[in-house]
Amino acid sequence: MLLRLERNGKLITLRTPPLALGGEAYLYAVDGDDSIIAKVYHKPTPERGDKLAAMIANPPLDPMAGSGHVSIAWPIDRLFSYEDEPRCLGFIMPRIPHTHSIFEYYNPKTRRQLCPLFHYRYLIRTARNLASAFNALHATGYVVGDVNESNILVSESALVTLVDTDSFQVPLGATTFRCPVGKPEFTPPELQNVRFREIDRTPEHDAFGLAVMIFLLLMEGTHPFAGRVVGDEEMLPLGDRIALNYYPYSISRSVPYEPMPTAPPIGVMHPDVRAMMRQCFEVGHTNPSLRPHAATWQQVLDLAESNLRLCRANTQHFYRFGLGTCPWCERMAMLGGWDPFPSRKAVKRGEHLQPVITRPIGMLVIDPYGNTPPTVEKTPQKQPEPTPQS
Ligand SMILES: [Zn+2]
Repeated sequence: MLLRLERNGKLITLRTPPLALGGEAYLYAVDGDDSIIAKVYHKPTPERGDKLAAMIANPPLDPMAGSGHVSIAWPIDRLFSYEDEPRCLGFIMPRIPHTHSIFEYYNPKTRRQLCPLFHYRYLIRTARNLASAFNALHATGYVVGDVNESNILVSESALVTLVDTDSFQVPLGATTFRCPVGKPEFTPPELQNVRFREIDRTPEHDAFGLAVMIFLLLMEGTHPFAGRVVGDEEMLPLGDRIALNYYPYSISRSVPYEPMPTAPPIGVMHPDVRAMMRQCFEVGHTNPSLRPHAATWQQVLDLAESNLRLCRANTQHFYRFGLGTCPWCERMAMLGGWDPFPSRKAVKRGEHLQPVITRPIGMLVIDPYGNTPPTVEKTPQKQPEPTPQS
């Protein structure tokens, strides 16, 4: 397929078949340029074209620009039909190779199979780099809106890239191009059961989704509102529990849920990180403006990362100072020998490819809210050694 770039009129050829098919667009590789991909809408509209023009005219300052990494896959140029038709059909953006969805890192099962040497320090660094990308967006007046695991890619060196950026909320003078979608588990209480099409999102709304994502990363894929119901209460969907402020780790009020028996103890997180979680989920429940900003998360996560020590039994086990024993050794014992951060020797022997222990306590932790991890390669392969980057 031949399309025209707006800026210089250059024609580019999109490779068929498409790389991916989404609900609203196809993604294509571009002939002769592997650094970009093209997104072509099924139903191009003048509004989409105007939104893209506004985004291209005012890109956020990428915090990783100096190191050559793209943290925000922002539109680069608009695409038009090659026949001078004045209708914008889509856009090109940077291609982000060698990454997986953030889900595949915070989900212990897929992480162990895909990147078994990605230990807790990398998870903290991922959270920190995610906060940094959110901070850059908010600084330029943009809001992610639809925070979810498929819009965040992570590299094996803990670098983060926000994708699907054309769904973000974009301001343009008195107009706001809204983000019409969202997932309940990343949506703050005040927006549960609200029609996204009818409201403007704010950085405070993003701050809730960001805190959920950080919690998932630091708590082995456990959602902050996942829990076991106490007493005879009916089990509610996550969105309803968020709306009702049933944070099972609350220390200020009694709620009808307790932490999942399979979740790591909340104490694995640095005390300042836990305080930030309470600030977001408890204080922020009634006062959204008091939720920690992305910039504050960045600082506190830097502190948490600098406060780690190594386990004597396994040098892939990083845990915070202040804990008497290694929580990952304890967790491994609880999961019947299934190590969330296997040693280099164990990885060499291919042990990370062994399936999860199927006794009840082992399985629950893997899919905290019923996500099915994607199929992964089963053959042992040499694992690259990740180096966390910021
Ligand atoms: Zn250990």
